[in-house]
Amino acid sequence: MRIPSRQSIIDRASDQRADAVARHDSTTIRGIDTLIKNLYLGLKMRWDADGALIVRSVSTPGAVYAVGTHTCSCPAHKPCYHQRLRDLLLEMLEVEADSADMDADLVNQAAPLIDALDAIHGDADFEADCDAPAAPVWRIGAVIARRLAA
Ligand SMILES: [Zn+2]
Repeated sequence: MRIPSRQSIIDRASDQRADAVARHDSTTIRGIDTLIKNLYLGLKMRWDADGALIVRSVSTPGAVYAVGTHTCSCPAHKPCYHQRLRDLLLEMLEVEADSADMDADLVNQAAPLIDALDAIHGDADFEADCDAPAAPVWRIGAVIARRLAA
């Protein structure tokens, strides 16, 4: 599993903070503030092979904590900001995977239309056109192609 860029983690945490402010949830706001502060201080992290997040402490030189589902080896009061960070990273990876699935669905939906265009125009390079950012006409084309195929 990859680690998103530091800035995108901070951006996502800031979004969650805004939600917490709207809910007047001071516990969550404090937790997110601690997370954002430590990200700015250079918090380092990686995934291990078992899906645990390994975090190098910013405040205690040399200390390394393993963060699992609802667990963390740090001495802080639980739930600690490391667990919040792990949940946030997993959520970001899930959103990323969902949008990749949506792109794949769109390409699959357009495939019958591309085949139909190939049949009419010969084997033109419509696939290459389809790799460009999907224009609305391609989305409409995909819907028409599905109706024709049904
Ligand atoms: Zn912790």
